[in-house]
Amino acid sequence: MAIQGTWGIVGGGMLGMTLALRLAQRGEKVTIFESADKAGGLTSSWSMNGVIWDKYYHVILMSDLNTRKILKEIGLENDLNWVETKTGFYSDGKLYSMSNLVEFFKFPPINLVDKFRLGLTIFAASKIRNWENLEKIPVEKWLKKWSGKRVFEKIWLPLLKAKLGENYKKTSAAFIWSTIQRMYAARKSGLKKEMFGYVTGGYEKINKKFAEHLQQIGVEFKYQTKVVTVKKEISGNLILETDDQSTYTFDHVISTLSSKESVKIATQLSAAERQQHNDIKYLGVICPSVLLSKSISPYYVTNITDSWPPFTGIIEMTALIDKKETKGNHLVYLPKYVNPDDELFDKSEEELKKLFLDSLFKMYPKLSLSDLNFWGTSKSRIVFALPTINYSKKVPKVTTSLGNYYIINSAQIINGTLNVNETIQVAETKLQ
Ligand SMILES: Cc1cc2nc3c(=O)[nH]c(=O)nc-3n(C[C@H](O)[C@H](O)[C@H](O)COP(=O)(O)OP(=O)(O)OC[C@H]3O[C@@H](n4cnc5c(N)ncnc54)[C@H](O)[C@@H]3O)c2cc1C
Repeated sequence: MAIQGTWGIVGGGMLGMTLALRLAQRGEKVTIFESADKAGGLTSSWSMNGVIWDKYYHVILMSDLNTRKILKEIGLENDLNWVETKTGFYSDGKLYSMSNLVEFFKFPPINLVDKFRLGLTIFAASKIRNWENLEKIPVEKWLKKWSGKRVFEKIWLPLLKAKLGENYKKTSAAFIWSTIQRMYAARKSGLKKEMFGYVTGGYEKINKKFAEHLQQIGVEFKYQTKVVTVKKEISGNLILETDDQSTYTFDHVISTLSSKESVKIATQLSAAERQQHNDIKYLGVICPSVLLSKSISPYYVTNITDSWPPFTGIIEMTALIDKKETKGNHLVYLPKYVNPDDELFDKSEEELKKLFLDSLFKMYPKLSLSDLNFWGTSKSRIVFALPTINYSKKVPKVTTSLGNYYIINSAQIINGTLNVNETIQVAETKLQ
């Protein structure tokens, strides 16, 4: 295929790499600009005292067909492992298993009628196909209608607050719908067994293989190169300037950065389109990782309905992945979803360590500092766009007034939760 044009892609996360793959396959000449020293973005890995694993926890679902297609294309399909996992609930100071229907009916914090209403809510959400209607309704109103006030306050509100903080008040019912849809998809049949997947070697391996594959088909990577501006010349070409004062000329540029960053680098955009992008509200995450010499529970996810722990939930990664991956350690994430200006971002590592570990040790008294082999925090102020009321109507178009500058980012996920599968879906559909 003839070379049709030159394309600059800003951001070498899963979205940027998928766009590059499809463009290069069409015969386009593509360069990816990535401010970090390797590809992967939010899926990147780091070294925890020599244990290399994702900075943020990641699982793959059987229903993640876009992700699985990419894995197949880059030759990693056979490295996928599927594991049956369990879910726990920490409620009123006690830990409960909530991994099947029997356990659901034994769950003490709510009575039988409430359990029926909770089950009905989940079932109803799993059957709804027309998410557009849910987008018009505040999540609180919808959940109270289906589950009742008691279940809302006892179960849903703590879970919503954990994931969204006070922002739950601005969030539409499409959020809970997409969360339940994904939860259902993780289970083989109805509410029975939960199966999650991971690739041996984690996203470290996926990102390396993906980048290598792209290089083999002609995509160029510029690592440790931050894009600072994208400007249109009289000729119609776009000039991309990087933080080392280099300039590059392209026929087309795609930004995969957050909406705010995408308009910040393109100062020639109109005030109206800048406003539309800046109006998108994002949430960030503070995500400590700990390596422990002991397991804390059999659950991959422990949801927390008590309000005192500083973390949103507990993810015990080694309930899913083989402990060979973590040199025999138990890897646990303690995520907390927060507003981009949350004061937690200003706390030192020592302050965060004390705050988070004190609570973890209070929840699991058999644990102490002597079990800790690593502590480290990954933070990101801009992670996912909040699905506010009528979100799909507010999402800006991919095209901009510059004509050949496009913004394709995860804010364009309109009826799903933030995950790699949805992110790839955005890349696959918005390029057409
Ligand atoms: C805590 C957490 C848990 C998650 N769990 C799961 C899960 O279980 N399963 C799942 O499928 N997904 C999960 N995800 C979601 C998944 O990580 C994202 O969907 C995906 O990584 C988003 O990719 P992206 O390319 O859109 O963005 P990013 O990964 O953010 O990529 C953007 C890239 O742009 C680079 N960049 C930024 N500014 C510039 C600049 N000016 N110039 C050049 N480069 C720049 C960044 O370094 C980054 O590499 C999770 C995410 C988080 C945070």
